[in-house]
Amino acid sequence: MSLRNIHGIVAAALLASCSPGKDEAPSAAAPEPAEAPAIEPPPPPEPDWAEILRDELTLTSAPDNSQLIAALTGDLDPAEDEGFVLLPASLSAREGLYTRTETAEALARMSEAAAADGVRLVVLSAFRSMGDQRRIWNNKWNGATLVEGGALPETVPDPKQRALKILEFSSMPGTSRHHWGTDVDFNNLNNEWFDTPEGARVYDWLNANAASYGFCQTYTAKGPDRPAGYEMEKWHWSYMPVASKFLAAYPRLVGYFELASFEGAEEASKLSVIRDYVGGIAPGCITGWPPHQPNPE
Ligand SMILES: [Zn+2]
Repeated sequence: MSLRNIHGIVAAALLASCSPGKDEAPSAAAPEPAEAPAIEPPPPPEPDWAEILRDELTLTSAPDNSQLIAALTGDLDPAEDEGFVLLPASLSAREGLYTRTETAEALARMSEAAAADGVRLVVLSAFRSMGDQRRIWNNKWNGATLVEGGALPETVPDPKQRALKILEFSSMPGTSRHHWGTDVDFNNLNNEWFDTPEGARVYDWLNANAASYGFCQTYTAKGPDRPAGYEMEKWHWSYMPVASKFLAAYPRLVGYFELASFEGAEEASKLSVIRDYVGGIAPGCITGWPPHQPNPE
């Protein structure tokens, strides 16, 4: 029997217990009614996150979840996708950066407000496809891109440790929030820059104002509140009104089967990257935004 059917039966029982005949006051002759056993109210049914995300993305055509899984894992071309727009030059450091339309509109509102306060927000990176992320990942894995000055096959030969080293700042292909078109990197990809006078002005402005435009810093300092996931990234901000729906749908639609087409992919499940990296974001970015959802399991 499904949980929903159980809820239906419990609800029916509750309704029956409230029927008019039982509401009459007991007559004087009637014995004191025994104390009714406490009935736990049924928990609300879990929202259908796939359907919520499907509505958000106005996807109607595919009979299965393939379009949703493609959207969750960045397996799409934003130039061919109606949900995406190019960011204007005024917002970005280079041409060809895409976000989802709602993200771009919120970015425009926020950067205008920042400019009025004398702060220039520059988007360095926005949507990245699974293919983009595969190149970034494989180049680090193979040593074509140096990590901390070294080629990882030599400096970190153990596959698990090598994956963990890359995961300090780079996502496994298919797991990046940049796949969703909701997340952007601002101004500088070094945390130290945000301690300079110019960087601190940008970061202070974002901390004071970004939430009112829907943006949240997902990769805050690691600690008891955020024990797992990427290192702190002061530059990475997420448009939560849309991203929260992606996050809620992700673990229900994407499994390790989908995370297979890159070097070292067999480490993904061993490292629980869906739970610890997709889900390893600042708690305030999970609980502070609708829809409320549990962390990915
Ligand atoms: Zn980022």
